[in-house]
Amino acid sequence: MKTDNYCTNCDEYKTDKELVNYKCNICNEYVLSKFSTSNGDKAIKRILASEVEANDMITIPYTDDFRRVLGISYNETEALIGLQEYRRIKIRLNSRVEKLEGAWYL
Ligand SMILES: [Zn+2]
Repeated sequence: MKTDNYCTNCDEYKTDKELVNYKCNICNEYVLSKFSTSNGDKAIKRILASEVEANDMITIPYTDDFRRVLGISYNETEALIGLQEYRRIKIRLNSRVEKLEGAWYL
């Protein structure tokens, strides 16, 4: 059955209940999740702010608008993330970030 989560590693759709911290319950990899935007449905991974890397495309918090990560620094509790054509944002290290993986075609 098609759901809004897909593990590319296991080649299987997953229900929300089958995920553990947004990862596959079998292989422990992040699944692709459907994320609807004003610009069409996207496939994202819900990673931790502490896992963001330069050149990732992430949403501006509370929007459906993706920006490229230019650089990251950290303090004890927060990631300070510089976004292209935007300002630097602060996100708690244990908060989730929507990382763009492509269009949702699953
Ligand atoms: Zn899997």
